[in-house]
Amino acid sequence: SFDAVPMAPTDPLFGLMAAYKADTHAKKVDLGVGAYRDDNAKPWVLPVVKKADAIMRDDPSLDHEYLPIAGLQSFTQAAARLILGRDSPAIADQRVSSVQTISGTGAVHLGAAFISKFYPRQQNQPVFLSNPTWANHQQIFSNVHLPTTTYPYYYPPTRGLDFDGFTEALRTAPEGSIVLLHACAHNPTGVDPTREQWVEIAKIMKANNLFPFFDCAYQGFASGDLDNDAWAVRHFVEQGFELCVAQSFSKNLGLYGERAGVFHFVSGSMERQKRIASQLAIIQRSEISNPPAYGARIADLAMNRPELFEEWKVNLRTMAGRIITCREQLVAKLRERGTPGDWSHIMKQIGMFSFTGLTEEQVKKLREEWHIYMTKNGRISMAGLNSHNIDYVATAIDKVVRE
Ligand code: PLP
Repeated sequence: SFDAVPMAPTDPLFGLMAAYKADTHAKKVDLGVGAYRDDNAKPWVLPVVKKADAIMRDDPSLDHEYLPIAGLQSFTQAAARLILGRDSPAIADQRVSSVQTISGTGAVHLGAAFISKFYPRQQNQPVFLSNPTWANHQQIFSNVHLPTTTYPYYYPPTRGLDFDGFTEALRTAPEGSIVLLHACAHNPTGVDPTREQWVEIAKIMKANNLFPFFDCAYQGFASGDLDNDAWAVRHFVEQGFELCVAQSFSKNLGLYGERAGVFHFVSGSMERQKRIASQLAIIQRSEISNPPAYGARIADLAMNRPELFEEWKVNLRTMAGRIITCREQLVAKLRERGTPGDWSHIMKQIGMFSFTGLTEEQVKKLREEWHIYMTKNGRISMAGLNSHNIDYVATAIDKVVRE
């Protein structure tokens, strides 16, 4: 029987969302959830998505048949061009296997399942994750029986990158280890390596024969520029690495609940690519049979219709621009109040989140006394700020920091 099943803890982020929902205070602020909000704290259906949806519904040939096992090919191919670049040598050489997945989470999972099944590793050789990382990474890998360990990443004194610790860990990792890297807009810290640092990281990883596994959940959302945010991945491909990429369209197209994502495996030859694709198809078939169609159809139109692609870029700049403005304003408002501490890291960090440096105690006070919700580690979702609540949030932070 199942008598021995222990009670699992609730997911901390989803627990936070429930607590926010249950709070009846008029001024409550949600800085927890990693989803874009407009200036009225409302979800934003991207105009490009509305147009794509209308085009899709007008199509008389639209039906509800199954997609192929690897998903909608025009979508996965456009997705490969989006992350690897239109003139990627890997695409031209047909070295890329692309499989549509249940969004970014499903893509990380498919990659993890493939690695677990096929990557020759010594017993218990761990997958390297950044410290800290997206809360789900560790359990996605452990669910497919891959142990994990961490490499130094965030450096609290500067609220920036621990580049020395990071590179030292890469130098000393067992040869051939898998290293999970955030392609851009690191979650939860908002701290990314510079281009020069990425070049160095790639050199060390090459010398130690490490395998890069990129998680790309924020392309275009981070800087507002799709190519800029793909730079690290493209650099590694140019350096001749075999690698994989888990790609999500949740944030950059606002398709959170539609679960549109792709897993790409860039391999060394076309022949190897074909073998890898055949095995990915076996795993996919046993797990989900074939992926959901709606989000993929929307993303397909957004990428393949030139006029929609242009509109998407404008929408991306709107989202990234609003977040960057919120960063600047929050820092300005803390400076206006003379809040103790140097808050410039909020401006330097990028993407959905900022690691504020607020302590667990301060986070608790913000929640209990000010009804402002954020994760215990002091991470705030920048999109939760807007012109109506930013003064209130700055005042609250100022007060709890001084206490
Ligand atoms: N990877 C990272 C780093 C993320 O931050 C997220 C979402 O928060 C994901 C992957 C996966 O998101 P989704 O499964 O919605 O695409």
